[in-house]
Amino acid sequence: MCGIVGYVGRQKAATILIEGLKRLEYRGYDSAGLAVLQNDGIEIAKKTGRVGNLVKEAKHHRFTGTTGISHTRWATHGGVTDANAHPHLSSDGKISLVHNGVIENYVSIKKFLSARGYTFSSETDTEVLCNLIAYHYAKEPADPDQSRFVTSVRQALRHAEGTYGIAVISPEAPGEIVAARKGSPLILGVGDNEFIVASDVAALISHTQNVVYLKDGEVVHLTPKDFSITTLDQEDVEAVVDRVTWTVDAAELNGHPHFMEKEIFEQPAALENSMRGRFSEDGSTAKFGGLNLGPVEFRQIDRFVFLGCGTAWHACLVAEHLLERFARVPVEADYASEFRYRNSPLSGNPLFFVISQSGETIDTLGALREAKRKGYKVLAINNTVGSTIARETDGGIYQHVGPEIGVASTKAFTSQLLVGAMLALHVARMRDMSFADGVEYVNALKGVPDLVRRVLEQAPRIKEIALRYAHYSDFLFLGRLSLFPIALEGALKLKEISYIHAEGYPAAEMKHGPIALISEKCPSVFFVPKSEIFNKLVSSIQEIKARNGKTIVITTEGCELPPGVADEIITIPDCHEAVLPIVATIPVQLLSYYIAVARGCDVDKPRNLAKSVTVE
Ligand code: GLU
Repeated sequence: MCGIVGYVGRQKAATILIEGLKRLEYRGYDSAGLAVLQNDGIEIAKKTGRVGNLVKEAKHHRFTGTTGISHTRWATHGGVTDANAHPHLSSDGKISLVHNGVIENYVSIKKFLSARGYTFSSETDTEVLCNLIAYHYAKEPADPDQSRFVTSVRQALRHAEGTYGIAVISPEAPGEIVAARKGSPLILGVGDNEFIVASDVAALISHTQNVVYLKDGEVVHLTPKDFSITTLDQEDVEAVVDRVTWTVDAAELNGHPHFMEKEIFEQPAALENSMRGRFSEDGSTAKFGGLNLGPVEFRQIDRFVFLGCGTAWHACLVAEHLLERFARVPVEADYASEFRYRNSPLSGNPLFFVISQSGETIDTLGALREAKRKGYKVLAINNTVGSTIARETDGGIYQHVGPEIGVASTKAFTSQLLVGAMLALHVARMRDMSFADGVEYVNALKGVPDLVRRVLEQAPRIKEIALRYAHYSDFLFLGRLSLFPIALEGALKLKEISYIHAEGYPAAEMKHGPIALISEKCPSVFFVPKSEIFNKLVSSIQEIKARNGKTIVITTEGCELPPGVADEIITIPDCHEAVLPIVATIPVQLLSYYIAVARGCDVDKPRNLAKSVTVE
């Protein structure tokens, strides 16, 4: 959460910083600010609200300098106020800082600094770190071999507990930025006599595709001509420059009103990209380049553990269902945030998979580290090349769906479902699945982009339904087996972007409690696909109808529903069980999107949320 951008080069920093912030706004939008080094000192503008507010505010400033830092905030410490907005300036005016993360020991540091005359004008943990750097800067002797500025940042960070991605400037170090990270993402864009440091590639991709993914504990020192990376212990680090494969187009709206809509409609292509090159030549199984595990090791695994948060946890639940169903192996799916503190007893030879679109989700990272501390192998399903999770796992599967910018996950989720389905096949074929069943499964996977396309064609009809239901304040989403997680996902999507109270339940659980909510005021979205429990699902709908509940039924082609059970019917193609969750997700994405738009909600930037949850 929160985005930082720093620029040093020959161009006007403010223009580049604001452009970068706009691309990072999905990471936090409580306030935004920038600080630029001018000939006569430092100039800071900051404002609560969106980057748009900052743009208006910036008009009252004369930003001419070519070095600067900027921030879009998702508040953790201190309310949403101009004073708490970043950049912060130390009370002696020597250090300015933007920060993504949480300084956990800020209270004791603040006490230490207050006793030494430093004062504070905000409630944030960040301002404390800013003053701590100033404190070290003031006491650091000038060393001809070392930049006093970099040394003071390093010194301060050695005392900081918690997480940070920071960019720091000083009016006494014109043309320099020091940036560092621990637990929060930070990427260096390497241009031609210019450098950009940012929380996400999206902020720098229009300037350069050459990037260095900084690692935890690294400090980078930028000047317009050069950069150098060291560790907190002052050891030199050799930089590895990678090339980003996508271009700025992928981070543009391209005519869509919202990123969420764009990303929903991108799904056929995104799924295609997730699968590309990942089937065996004989067409009977899936293959992955980066698992770093052979068939023998795979067969020895006695349990899979899938960990994720939010939408990714729903993908874990679907993976659990498919691996158990097709590979006949025990699977556990857990919230990463719970697993990391639960100390759960584990079997002898489990394999862990963590799922995270951004690869920076702090709870998932915490769970991954805990599993690794216990000596287990952890793999990742992740969309962001070079992310912390990708780096810390023993291998994994990249989703390859390009940047996802809408805060509510859509294409990244269906791609996680697809990768989970491919993994189930991969494992199943090493166990009991026959060649013929493998071929049928592969063909089903290959057909999924088309099936998704067919559901997307129904968007106008789903929009009409959405408009009829947009005024309700409560919804239930009900499904069974592999569609129970999709019911959870449907409810989460609606909650996230339209602020409507919604709950997902296994359909048969309804009568154990949630049925008490049913009335003409609480519609239910019901997944009723062709299956051996079709009749049981229909009975559950009847129970709702008997209590005057409205029903929106998502069913598969060829199913015949008894008259009167569905107020609305959305029909999806009949398909293989492995891809059903993907196909069934599309209508609930569209439904929640159109309901949110009808209610006038800002779907790409829902209140209180931010993408990539990098704080605990
Ligand atoms: N802890 C800092 C604050 O509340 C930074 C939060 C962020 O990552 O945006 O200002």
